[in-house]
Amino acid sequence: MASVQLKQIYKQYEQTPVLHGIDLQIEDGEFIVLVGPSGCGKSTLMRMVAGLEDISGGDFYIDGARANELPPQQRNIAMVFQSYALYPHLTVYENIAFGPRLRKEPESSFKPRIEAAAAMLNLTPYLQRLPKALSGGQRQRVAMGRAVVREPALFLFDEPLSNLDAKLRVQMRAEIKALHQRLKNTVIYVTHDQIEAITMGDRIVVMNGGKIEQVGKPLDIYDRPANIFVASFIGSPSMNFIEGTVQLKDNKELLVTEQGIEIELPLCELILGQQITIGIRPEHIALSNQLESGIELSLDLIEPTGAETYLYGKIDRFACCIALRERQNLAPQDKINVQLPKQHLHIFDTVSTLRLN
Ligand code: ADP
Repeated sequence: MASVQLKQIYKQYEQTPVLHGIDLQIEDGEFIVLVGPSGCGKSTLMRMVAGLEDISGGDFYIDGARANELPPQQRNIAMVFQSYALYPHLTVYENIAFGPRLRKEPESSFKPRIEAAAAMLNLTPYLQRLPKALSGGQRQRVAMGRAVVREPALFLFDEPLSNLDAKLRVQMRAEIKALHQRLKNTVIYVTHDQIEAITMGDRIVVMNGGKIEQVGKPLDIYDRPANIFVASFIGSPSMNFIEGTVQLKDNKELLVTEQGIEIELPLCELILGQQITIGIRPEHIALSNQLESGIELSLDLIEPTGAETYLYGKIDRFACCIALRERQNLAPQDKINVQLPKQHLHIFDTVSTLRLN
């Protein structure tokens, strides 16, 4: 088991700064997901934890002991990568046994561990096969088996599911979660896929441009994103945003767009004339029953997915997506009226992009 602490961690490659002061405390046994767009520094951070990359500045601790210069092999960490990196000429058993053999452990000591890992990962029937005779999911499980037999205190996963097809990804997501629930070790998991982050993490760390934007439980982040970046990155289809200024009418605070569309705001400390951006998730927009009430939306595209129907259109000049559970008899170019319930509005300062409510 292991806790990990990062204090003001900086990284630069040559002259290029990549991480700009990362502070993060990871508790023993936690499943933490680092998520963010490609190039935001997730892999760099993970490789620094593994000891594969120098730390340019700041302090890094494992179980409370400073570990900036600790060699990788002394960190009690196992890593699983996107490319499984299996030896093609070795059987599944020998692939998993590779590490223990390298460390000159006697076979009698590691064989039971391999058998237990194989049983846990449903690999027992395949132990004598070569990697080429396995499916993508089975190969990924062998890579995990190799990590599991090390019995590491800390598991690092770097985009382990990116090479798998959609169905297998969903299955392996559940298997990795189940593995963590059985082993109860600390996991740091890197992905650019926000669905993976939300479904797997005890907590997720949303990164952008070498900085942490927000840390929290998945649904807390979904319900209360700290800024416009997090609001737009987490959730699919993405949150809708409408810009305007704060105005007062009949004692009600409104957002008024350039074209004069008025949207009632929830109670919140706002300044008259302030430029704000409201956000609303696609599933929170409702169709208005009466044509005379609500806000007009012109439809561009209707996308049935089976379970839900997505309607795409515009409010003012802002692109807008609505997710509906009920099927609708609508066509592109139709004009519909929608409600934006004020209890579901997220309010951000347009200039600072920070959450206001
Ligand atoms: P992510 O994992 O979020 O996609 P990375 O950690 O791989 O991001 O990369 C972060 C930034 O650091 C990127 O701009 C990338 O180009 C740069 N970078 C990564 N590795 C190196 C390297 N070895 N030398 C120079 N720049 C690098």
